[in-house]
Amino acid sequence: MDGPSGTGKSTVAKRLAERLGAAYLDTGAMYRAVTLAVLRAGVDPADGAAVLRVAESTDLRIDAEVGAHVHLADEDVSAEIRGPEVTLAVSAVSAVPKVRERLVSLQRRMISEARAVRGGIVVEGRDIGTVVSPDAALKVYLTASADARAKRRSKQDSAAGRAVSVDATLADVERRDRLDSSRAVSPLRPAADAVEVDTTDLDIDGVLDRLIALVDE
Ligand code: C5P
Repeated sequence: MDGPSGTGKSTVAKRLAERLGAAYLDTGAMYRAVTLAVLRAGVDPADGAAVLRVAESTDLRIDAEVGAHVHLADEDVSAEIRGPEVTLAVSAVSAVPKVRERLVSLQRRMISEARAVRGGIVVEGRDIGTVVSPDAALKVYLTASADARAKRRSKQDSAAGRAVSVDATLADVERRDRLDSSRAVSPLRPAADAVEVDTTDLDIDGVLDRLIALVDE
């Protein structure tokens, strides 16, 4: 499941995994955790070589389960990776080709293990249908208007105790879309065989019903 932020992707992907009894992997959380490590190391996110050195020495731990916490070594960083500093820097870190190579290979290992052990997995990100898992049984690309996405994002932020205006969130959502869609490697775009679902006028249950129907097809 791919698509930009604020489309309801995370919520829907988790709910779908629960409904299907499948494993679940949030690949965005992996890029966010590496970004946190980069920031803590005092490295400029735009310095690809230095970012890669941090990524290579980062002990990133995440399970392929709904509700899995993200760890850097033994430290639970699940909340910190959602903060504004990480959100601001994550697109630059995830544009470094060798950082992507490392994470994609880890993601592929987790996917094949989940397929073998759990029978299936719901994976969400920006390049899952195009790069990570081109042979996925179902590829979904979620979209929504920038306005709807900013409103959802800002609601999530205030629920997490971070008060940000819808306008500021809209600017950030659009900035990240631009960076994620224009990067040289694995830009955000739907796979040729992805089903596009526009969530602008749908609630979570509406999107979920549509996805369950696609799974059953
Ligand atoms: O999904 P989330 O907003 O947590 O993703 C954070 C960032 O991680 C995205 O804006 C994108 O830059 C990067 N990302 C990526 N490839 C993925 C998942 C996330 O480049 N598969």
